[in-house]
Amino acid sequence: MKIKIIKAKTLFTITDFPKPTERIEPWEQSARDPHTYEIIAFNLPCCKQGIEFKQSDFEKHVEAPNTCLSEKDEAEIEKASKRLVKKNPYFLDFYCPKCGAAVRIYYDAGVAGRGEMFYSLAYVVFGIN
Ligand SMILES: [Zn+2]
Repeated sequence: MKIKIIKAKTLFTITDFPKPTERIEPWEQSARDPHTYEIIAFNLPCCKQGIEFKQSDFEKHVEAPNTCLSEKDEAEIEKASKRLVKKNPYFLDFYCPKCGAAVRIYYDAGVAGRGEMFYSLAYVVFGIN
């Protein structure tokens, strides 16, 4: 498997969410519902397939870190991306629906002000067979 590591900032429409402007005090009225999730979109470099995520996709994987990759593919991606894991302990895995490349998005998450969670996408790792 040929592995490529790309910074999330060069691929995604947004990498840090929720945006600070969406964080409002509970007593404030907002024109925007702070719980309306932004679409987090990017084009997979393997074959330019467009793909979209929601914040909830990243929330799920913080609570339940699991992979849908085969053991072999996951092992190869982990071996190639060891140095990224310390700062970006969470990941979201999937196979490209068009060409079947194994993809892992590494990200950080934690508690921001007022007990809200923040998410920060860092790297995308591709394994192309
Ligand atoms: Zn692809």
